[in-house]
This record gives sequence, C-alpha cells and structure tokens, in this order.
Amino acid sequence: MFFDQVCVQCGRCCEKWGWGQKGVIDDLILWMQENRQDILQHVSITLTNKKRCNGRDISIKDLPDIICIDYWVDPDGRLLTRCPFFRRADDGKVYCKIHDTKPKICIGFTPWNEGIRDYALNCPACHNTAP
Ligand code: SF4
Ligand code: SF4
Repeated sequence: MFFDQVCVQCGRCCEKWGWGQKGVIDDLILWMQENRQDILQHVSITLTNKKRCNGRDISIKDLPDIICIDYWVDPDGRLLTRCPFFRRADDGKVYCKIHDTKPKICIGFTPWNEGIRDYALNCPACHNTAP
C-alpha cells in the first residue's frame, strides 16, 4: 500500500535537528543582500584567524575568510539549543518564522530521504520508506 509522505508540520524535525547545524555561505549572502539582521544575529561565524563573530558583524568582503558557520546563537553569541524561528501556532502546527528564506539545510532536510533510523521513525510523514 502506498501512502503520500505529507509533512503534517508536527515540528519534531525542527525541535530535534533545527539547531547545532552547520551553515553555508550561500545562506549568508542571501541574508546579507536582504539585510536580514534578524536572522544574521543568530549566526555564529568563525574566521580563518579562529576569531568568532556574530553574523551581523561581517560584510561581503569577509566571506572568503569564513571557515565555519553555526546555527544558532543568541545575539550575544551564546549557543542556543533550540531554533529561534520555531513557532507553534494555536492550531498545534509548527510554522517556520523565516520560511521564505530559511537555511539551505532546512530546505534540503527531508527525513524520508535520510538514512537516520531514529529520526525517520519519529516523523509521522515517513509512512512508506524503510529507513
Ligand atoms: S517530523 Fe516529519 S511531519 Fe513532522 S514537521 Fe518534520 S518532516 Fe514534517
Ligand atoms: S529555521 Fe525554520 S525550518 Fe529551520 S529549524 Fe528553524 S523553524 Fe525549522
């Protein structure tokens, strides 16, 4: 029997995997072009000189010097153990507050394509894929 794999917006993936992730330069470029300081303030950047700084404090010229991008931190640089853009609405569903410009890792993370057994078994959309 075939079941559609439709995300029901339960939020389990964002709760479990939506923080402590590595970012990519393309995300930063987009957020800088759109002046998304609200997002950049939650990004930790490590430069080639090992110095850490906040995503708000870099410019396009700094991009070649970036060796690591971490999601997420608070505006003072402390690591967060939750995603600051996670919102559970009154209907019980979870909505991403930056859905239109969320990180590439979030866009590309489809549990039914992952070989992570622990994760896929807890995703209600993963009906028909043996993890
Ligand atoms: S765990 Fe599965 S169903 Fe729940 S929000 Fe994530 S992808 Fe959607
Ligand atoms: S940015 Fe959006 S999609 Fe990514 S973990 Fe946070 S709430 Fe989920």
